[in-house]
Formats: sequence, structure tokens, C-alpha cells
Amino acid sequence: MSDVRPLPRRSIESPARDPRPGLSQILPDELTAWAVAHGEPSYRARQIAEWHWRRYAASAAEMRTVPARLRAALDADVRVDTLLETVVSPADRGLTEKALHRLGDERLVESVLMRYPGGVGCRARATVCISSQVGCAVGCPFCATGELGFGRDLQPAEIVDQVRFWARRLVAEGGHVTNVVFMGMGEPLLNVEAVLAAAAALTDPARFGLGGRHITISTSGVTPGIERLTALAPSWTLAVSLHAARPALRDVLVPLNRRYPVEDVVAAAGAYAAATGRRVSYEYVMIDGINDTTADATAVVRLLQGHPVHVNLIPMNPVAHTPWRPSAPGRIEAFAAVLRGAGIATTIRHNRGEEIGAACGQLAAERAGMPAPDVVRRRRERLEQEGAAALAGRRP
Ligand code: SF4
Repeated sequence: MSDVRPLPRRSIESPARDPRPGLSQILPDELTAWAVAHGEPSYRARQIAEWHWRRYAASAAEMRTVPARLRAALDADVRVDTLLETVVSPADRGLTEKALHRLGDERLVESVLMRYPGGVGCRARATVCISSQVGCAVGCPFCATGELGFGRDLQPAEIVDQVRFWARRLVAEGGHVTNVVFMGMGEPLLNVEAVLAAAAALTDPARFGLGGRHITISTSGVTPGIERLTALAPSWTLAVSLHAARPALRDVLVPLNRRYPVEDVVAAAGAYAAATGRRVSYEYVMIDGINDTTADATAVVRLLQGHPVHVNLIPMNPVAHTPWRPSAPGRIEAFAAVLRGAGIATTIRHNRGEEIGAACGQLAAERAGMPAPDVVRRRRERLEQEGAAALAGRRP
């Protein structure tokens, strides 16, 4: 291989054990140059791309129309699949499936497939929720991933290969991926360059080929990241994890609020909506007695009224080490009524796959082992104190 220009290893790559870049982050021109450098006609690159992006090959060995010599060279230079192993758990009578992927350095990340059967006037959808980091540094206390802490950023190929995994599975049953949401483990906009590279691969007609309107990128409120997206003016949907409109409470529920205050986040999201013409989604996890009061709903109205937004209310998924529970259905309905009464489009969402740990990071957290009981006790006590202080309007 010494006479051949190596495929690019981008600076955004993390120190995964296997230094070969993933094929999913190689640009079409780069793949063509690589094939030509190996003494092959450029159409060999198109053949490899066909196997990779249309048949979702997991290994070079599957690429039967590619000469064996070139397949061996491909294996030497890239990882056709960056996911070494995947364990799938089904739920909701097969409508939801959750995958735990093992990466090249033995780290674990999760992705989820949610099937929505079609009906009168609406097409069937298959939405894939993917991870952008191993663990997460933001530390939202109701989130299983937050409990894991931060591991590392995912490489673009590791993000894209989660989607290819599900695409391969769906093709076998005659379906395809219709939507991709960056809402799994990690804060996407704290790994923004890799997320942008992954979104570009997913929406490039010569690669995965998904329409930009079928991509949603979520953030807990990384204002500079939102501004970075706005500058690109993509057709993706931006989803902001709000969870509280009162600053003192949001400091506890989304600790990033101390660095990027919610008013600035909403202003940045408004600029995104203006630049893209896309309504921004706001996600709001409903926690019993914590953020589900009429005062909270009124604060959300004050914050969002007049902006082109859609609010999704989601009952909290019970996570092992919090003292909190999901809001009662009646409480969520009342909250929704306040928002709708103020003209804010609001949907109540239902959790998918509770029996397999629908909260992102829950499977990986279980694999990582339970923390010691005194750690759990201290964590619950701290959350109770911080929650009480926040409800009284005191900031940590
Ligand atoms: S909710 Fe999202 S941002 Fe918050 S800790 Fe979990 S993964 Fe990170």
C-alpha cells in the first residue's frame, strides 16, 4: 500500500483503536481517487459505493462484483462497517427495536428503530434515532446517558453506520429508513463537525440519499452550534430540549443552561427558523411535581409565544437514580391545554419501548454496571435538594 495515497483521516476522528477511517466518511471523489491509485477504472469506486450505500454491505467480502484484489485493498485501508457487533432488543410488538452497538474500541452506543404503520392519508414511516457521542457531558439528571458521563465523540462513519445498520435490516423486509433523528446518546452540537459530516453523507444523493427534511438534529441548547447550523441554512429540523422555561429549574434539569441561558437558545433557534423557514421543535420531558405545573406552562408560553415552534410533551422515562416520576396523564393534558390556549402547537408523545429501556443510554448504562448504593443515595439526595431549591427560585 505504500505507493498509494492513504484515504483521509480527518482531524475530527477520535483515537478509536482501529486507525482505518470508516468507509461511510469517505467522499465519493476520494473513493474514486483511491480506486484509480490502485490501477482500477473509476467505475470500481461506483461499484463499491453501490454496495455500501444501496445494499448496506457490512464487509468488503459481500461486494461480489468488486475484484478480490481490490476488496483486500479496501479492507486494508478502511473499515467498511465501524460497528463490530450489534445486539437488538425488540419491544412494542416489534414496532420498536433498540440496538446496542459495539465500536472498534469496545465502547457501546445505542440506536433505536421506531416503525409507524401507515394509515388512511399517511404513509408508513421508519424513524431511526442515532447517537453522536459515547456517553454525554451535559449530565441532564433524568437521562441514563447523562449518568454515564462523557466517553468520546463518535466519528462521522460511526454515526452513519448506525443508520446503515437499520437500513440493511429494513431492506430485508422490503422497507427503508424514512427519517433520522440525532436524539440518541450525546449532545450532537458538542460534536458538531462530525454530525455535519454525517448529515451530509446521509443527505447526499450519491451516498445515503435521504431528503434533508427527513433529518432532525436535537440539542440541549448549545447556542454556538445552533448558529453554526444557521449559517449553513439546511433543510433539517432543529429540535431543542427545553424541559423547563424557568431559569433556576432549567439550571438543574439541563445543566448546560448555566453556560447557554435559555433566552439566548430560543433567540438562536428563532434565527435558525428565519434562515431555514423550518419550524423549531421543542422537547419537554414531563416530571411529576417538578416542571409540570401551571406556572411552568405559563413560563413556556412567555418564552415561546410568537416564535414558529412545535412543542412535544414527553412523559419522563423512569431512570434508576433519580427521585422523580413521570407526570400523570391528566397533568400533561392540562399543561398542553395552557400551551394550545396560547396558540402554541403542542403534541403529547408517548414513550416507545419502555420494556427495553427507552431512555437513551439505559442499555449501555446497564452494561456498565450499577453504581454503588451510596453513590445512588447521594445522587438522589443532591437532586432532591437542587430540585427543591430550583422550585423556590434559587439557582445552584
Ligand atoms: S438528555 Fe441528551 S444532552 Fe442531556 S444528558 Fe442525556 S444525552 Fe446528554
